[in-house]
Amino acid sequence: MDAPTPLPTLIRKKRDGERLEDAEIRSFVRGVTEGTAQQGQIGAMLMAIRLRGMDAGETLALTQAMAGSGRTLAWPPAWHGLVVDKHSTGGVGDKVSLALAPALAACGCKVPMISGRGLGHTGGTLDKLEAIPGFRVSQSPEEMQHILARVGCCIVGQSAELVPADRVLYGLRDVTATVDSLPLITASILSKKAAERLSALVLDVKFGEAALYPTQESARELARSLVEVGAHLGIRTAALLTRMEQPLGRAVGNALEVLEALECLGGGGPPDLRHLVTAL
Ligand code: URA
Repeated sequence: MDAPTPLPTLIRKKRDGERLEDAEIRSFVRGVTEGTAQQGQIGAMLMAIRLRGMDAGETLALTQAMAGSGRTLAWPPAWHGLVVDKHSTGGVGDKVSLALAPALAACGCKVPMISGRGLGHTGGTLDKLEAIPGFRVSQSPEEMQHILARVGCCIVGQSAELVPADRVLYGLRDVTATVDSLPLITASILSKKAAERLSALVLDVKFGEAALYPTQESARELARSLVEVGAHLGIRTAALLTRMEQPLGRAVGNALEVLEALECLGGGGPPDLRHLVTAL
């Protein structure tokens, strides 16, 4: 294990625009996971990363450290090549996961989706699912495997067992104005996907007024970062850039979005939603 570096030293380094070494990034993530880092320190580091950025090597190290903060999922050999997933950078009315995960399962894939809650002004898949009375978004790795064997897909949240570092950082980004950071988004999304031990991943990188990034150029840069880090993690990764100048579909609001996703699965629903689910 790396010798712990005092967190104020690491924060100062990033604040002043210096590069963090892999061991320093691991030390920060360990502090987050083990609860030794104070909330103020984590918030300060998030803001330093948001303002100073991270290079590709730092972003990969952060992703790996976050992925390794909890358990990594393991699958039966018979599922080799079938374990796939989709993730979106988020937008208003984006209920694609609710339709796409079961659609992929119907095609014979296994989809162990670890998703998130609302971030910034974008809605969260977990919040939408909790509009279904009794729906439990917290599942152990063993329960996930059981569900995948039975129905082919599950959508769960980060937990004390699954990417706990993302659970902490995700919540704090939401209240520290540090959501729209390229390295933080990349590490947040891909740490969850690395923990899932996927064969292939498709990313829906959104741009426009209803997305996290307003311009196509900034979204393209994020897509490049996601595909590059995904490849380093050994996941076959593809990204679609999709326009989000207005909410997707007609419904906005957790329960309404679940109903619209069900309409889509039944062959109906708004054409823009059906088109995006099919394209992904
Ligand atoms: N989805 C995530 O899981 N994390 C982000 O940072 C953005 C979208």
